[in-house]
Amino acid sequence: MPLLEINALEKRYGRVRALDGLTLSAEPGIYGLIGPNGAGKTTALSIVLGILRPDGGRVRVDGRDPVRDPLGVKRVTGYLPEEPFFYDYLTGAETLSLAASAHRAAWRADAFLREWTEALEMDGHLDQLVGHYSHGMRQKLGLLLSILHRPRLLLWDEPFVGLDFPSQERVRRLMEALKTRGCAIILSTHVLPLVEAAADRVGFILEGRLRWEGENPGSLSRFFHGDPGNDPDA
Ligand code: ATP
Repeated sequence: MPLLEINALEKRYGRVRALDGLTLSAEPGIYGLIGPNGAGKTTALSIVLGILRPDGGRVRVDGRDPVRDPLGVKRVTGYLPEEPFFYDYLTGAETLSLAASAHRAAWRADAFLREWTEALEMDGHLDQLVGHYSHGMRQKLGLLLSILHRPRLLLWDEPFVGLDFPSQERVRRLMEALKTRGCAIILSTHVLPLVEAAADRVGFILEGRLRWEGENPGSLSRFFHGDPGNDPDA
């Protein structure tokens, strides 16, 4: 059973058809979800998390239905939104503690989280107020929050935005480490070279449907040079 199954998903906002029969599935590994502005990527991720209700179709996360069991889905899913929200008056450590208590997770004792707090060079900033963080530091705190309860599915919306080049490379290595632990990572991004460098599979979404899907590496350049891949409409 795939960790994530999306089948014929529909979502309308008034007259706007944001999702129009989106179907895709993800196994453990890195899935690069690409598509132009307004293609429906954030809408799809919000439905997977149970934040939005679909108008049609179905989603399963490790067998769980986000409509009927949103808490169960959140237990196995880690989310990095495009613009993570933080309480500016808490420190990084207090932010992690707050999220950990909601998940009943012991983040200070978690060797994997400690390792990646250091690898992302956040260990020296945990006693600082989040309100004083730089954009990149907020992004890295968001990434740590998304993995603190050891989820099996990661939904990362633009994880590389605002990160300097060495940090992008570290996040790429974090994705590899998560993959080794059996996680599926949905990487929604416009940064195509990073998708090409990191993803095992790539899906191209346009007007709320999956228009093309292929194995990496090289599938993006084939796509942009006209190879139809397994276009469901071809
Ligand atoms: P981007 O790459 O720009 O982040 P996206 O692929 O994540 O875009 P969505 O944010 O899912 O796209 O938007 C899909 C469509 O739904 C767009 O036409 C958008 O204008 C519309 N939309 C999204 N949220 C709402 C909302 N709350 N109310 C009305 N329309 C919305």
